[in-house]
Amino acid sequence: MSQTTTTLPLLADLPDPQGYYGRFGGRYVPETLMAALEELETIYASVRHDPEFHAELNELFQHYVGRPTPLWEAKRLAETLGGKARIFLKREDLCHTGAHKLNNTLGQALLTKRLGKKRVIAETGAGQHGVAAATAAALLGLECEVFMGAEDIKRQELNVFRMKLLGSKVREVRSGSMTLKDATNEALREWMARVEDTHYIIGSCIGPHPYPMIVRDFQSVIGRESRKQFNEQVGGLPDAVIACVGGGSNSMGLFAPFYEDWDVKMFGVEAEGEGFLTGRHACSIGNREVGVFHGARLFVLQTPDGQITPAHSISAGLDYPGTGPEHCFYAESGRATYLSVTDTEAIEACRLLCRTEGILPAIESAHAVAALPKMLPQLNEGAKVILGLSGRGDKDVYTLRKYFEE
Ligand SMILES: *Cc1c(COP(=O)(O)O)cnc(C)c1O
Repeated sequence: MSQTTTTLPLLADLPDPQGYYGRFGGRYVPETLMAALEELETIYASVRHDPEFHAELNELFQHYVGRPTPLWEAKRLAETLGGKARIFLKREDLCHTGAHKLNNTLGQALLTKRLGKKRVIAETGAGQHGVAAATAAALLGLECEVFMGAEDIKRQELNVFRMKLLGSKVREVRSGSMTLKDATNEALREWMARVEDTHYIIGSCIGPHPYPMIVRDFQSVIGRESRKQFNEQVGGLPDAVIACVGGGSNSMGLFAPFYEDWDVKMFGVEAEGEGFLTGRHACSIGNREVGVFHGARLFVLQTPDGQITPAHSISAGLDYPGTGPEHCFYAESGRATYLSVTDTEAIEACRLLCRTEGILPAIESAHAVAALPKMLPQLNEGAKVILGLSGRGDKDVYTLRKYFEE
């Protein structure tokens, strides 16, 4: 990638001072939110390199989340795929609450305390980010209210109950399609109204600057650990890293610490749902349409006249009609390659990982596993690959049972 080394900005310059990654990102919000975002930016700049803040966060990571999570060589999986590569799973499924999301919510909950605020709000679709936010809030003694579309509340009863059990309120959103997109709009509105005592915990590398950067930084523990573990267990650097991309936080957390290792290839995997040509998918990068969504310029799913259209994926975590700005930049600049796999391929990959490694992955994470046969031909024989296994599949057993019994 010698060409790339000369043309790409360094990680420290992503984003630029205005919050742009190339032509993506920025801050497309009403004036009333500007002040809140500027305050957040200032406080974050002060804690970003504060050893005390990081010591506190690392303490939580180690003794509460269970970090470092293992890096496991999946030998039987590799053999099944033809034995021409070595595959290492970064086990975020072993984090407390079952996925990577807690890395970010704990970071932002600590940040809330630094902001001198006592209340957090969050948006959630399937409820996974809601549960992670409620968990962090309970642990740190913060009041928490989670915004959730009425449709999603119906579909995700158990997670609604979990959030309430954790002491959070769940605010039902009845506008629009009554799903994640509307919950996010409503949460932004609430934040505007109560910014003096409330911090808004966004759940992925999305939203207006500085959110995509903050979430990336907190999730980067995934890539930093992977780098160190790989060097200790195998030596040197991997040839490639691969992870599923919804909003883009688990993948960006894995990718960013390898960004300047120009020889390490990066592969993001989008959810192709029922197939790209059916229009029922979540491939916003694959779609290459630029629009403004939730406060930033991104690749999005939209109609020719600029209306955001719903995404489709069997995995709720990937069912989002945009992709975070840093991924859009990686895609456009060629730093990373984006692949896609369908619902069916992802579900088959869940079974494959169960049977070869004894690991039931989240259907989201199984997208990365399913993409391996599409990625490996792009690498040399004997390539070493780190795969971000973002979460565990216990939450998906009903979906899987329904699929395999039909
Ligand atoms: C939420 C979620 C995702 C998708 O979100 P990203 O921000 O793209 O990481 C992926 N996997 C799991 C297990 C999730 O819970």
